[in-house]
Amino acid sequence: MTALIEVSDVSKAFGGVIANQEISLDVPEGRITGLIGPNGSGKTTLFNSIVGFHPIDSGSILFEGQEISKLRVQQIARLGLLRTFQQTRIYSNMNCVDNMLISLSHRNESFGDMFATYPPEVADRAESLLEFVGLYSKRRLISGDLSFGQQKLLEFAMALMNEPKVLLLDEPTAGINPTLINGLIDRLKRANQELGVTLFVIEHNMPVIMGLAEHIYCLANGQLLAQGPPEEIQNDQRVIDAYLGGHIQTGDS
Ligand code: ADP
Ligand code: MG
Repeated sequence: MTALIEVSDVSKAFGGVIANQEISLDVPEGRITGLIGPNGSGKTTLFNSIVGFHPIDSGSILFEGQEISKLRVQQIARLGLLRTFQQTRIYSNMNCVDNMLISLSHRNESFGDMFATYPPEVADRAESLLEFVGLYSKRRLISGDLSFGQQKLLEFAMALMNEPKVLLLDEPTAGINPTLINGLIDRLKRANQELGVTLFVIEHNMPVIMGLAEHIYCLANGQLLAQGPPEEIQNDQRVIDAYLGGHIQTGDS
């Protein structure tokens, strides 16, 4: 099993708060890997470190064997490592297709101008990805008029537009109506299986991550507490205690 991302002894502090302490983990190619832990345990910080959003204090982060911990977000994105955010980031006054096209200009310098004209095959790909996430019939609608769950699907399609090798998803189901969650989970699995995108997913919804990930890492107080397949993790007393000891995640932070 080849590790696409290899995190070794990564530490990150904010003032006196040690958000990540000597974390080591692997994200294997072609798989879905989960990251769980109580609120404030350092999950988002680790994602931010991997994608180059902030410098790390110490440790190493390899992507396809290349050290990326000194690179910036754009450089890392160009290598094929992308993330989505806990809060949705779309242009709410633009339609879905335009959001898809704009997402290219964020990450691809050949589409540097927000108002560039795009070749027809790019627009075709935007439409087919919107179909993939179930938004084809809404592709010309102003994205701000979509439901929150649909906006999350749009954001997912926008990330796929950039053909990532690996996608980091920070609480993709947070705030989504429970009846729409299954549709999103199904899309994540299909992106992994059919499009070959490796996924690394932070998720506070336990049944969701247990059904999605093949291997799960659990953080607590900034440290790696446990790792294993879902069936092991959900019966791991340390994991259960960490969740009971902390406050139950609400997904809003
Ligand atoms: P999680 O995503 O697991 O809820 P975070 O990684 O967001 O946890 O936060 C881990 C710890 O680091 C928390 O104590 C949080 O308050 C702190 N933290 C995160 N980002 C910052 C920041 N930019 N400045 C100061 N403290 C931060
Ligand atoms: Mg977080």
